[in-house]
Amino acid sequence: MHTIGRFAPSPSGRMHLGNVLCALLAWLSARQQNGEFLLRIEDLDEMRCPRSFADLIIDDLRWLGLDWDGEIPYQSERTAVYEKYEAILREKGLLYPCFCSRAALHAASAPHLSDGRVVYAGTCRDLTPEQVAEKRRKRAPATRVRVPERTITFTDGVYGEYTETLTEECGDFIIRRSDGVFAYQLAVVVDDGLSGVTEVVRGHDLHRQYAAPDLAV
Ligand code: GLU
Repeated sequence: MHTIGRFAPSPSGRMHLGNVLCALLAWLSARQQNGEFLLRIEDLDEMRCPRSFADLIIDDLRWLGLDWDGEIPYQSERTAVYEKYEAILREKGLLYPCFCSRAALHAASAPHLSDGRVVYAGTCRDLTPEQVAEKRRKRAPATRVRVPERTITFTDGVYGEYTETLTEECGDFIIRRSDGVFAYQLAVVVDDGLSGVTEVVRGHDLHRQYAAPDLAV
């Protein structure tokens, strides 16, 4: 199999040691397999991720000698692509609008997993069209995926086999914020899928947030 690795920083600041380690390991792994190595700037949240920080990260990578193949895609310029995949999910009946406030989501009564993450309680899962219309008058909704009752398993190169029951350990998650900005969870999967990425090296903090679906639609 032809290896395609990638480094996909969110430029919310200057490169830090965690980024350097991640980039170095991803680059070494791809290059030692004679594979391609891609660089993608994950600047979906343009307020937090200005172009000036992206430029500095790119300069630092050049200085470190970590080279990449092809053009650098900026996620902030790919809204139309994410909208296409959002439409596909909507057509499949997998999306619904969510009007919950951040405070409501993190209320003490919300179910918390042992690591402190909150599984969405499904408050807006089954709103009627009338209820949705009524709520829309007061607040713009975020968009959530209705996860199926399914257990997924993948093998991580460091942690081994990882299994998660979507409804219990992940819950319905947001793919687009109420201000229209797409969430990392959708964009990263679309971009990795479309660019044919075969291996991902990323921080441990993201271990539980990722499962790549088949994007061949
Ligand atoms: N953009 C993410 C970050 O900088 C990492 C993305 C990924 O590796 O999937 O934290």
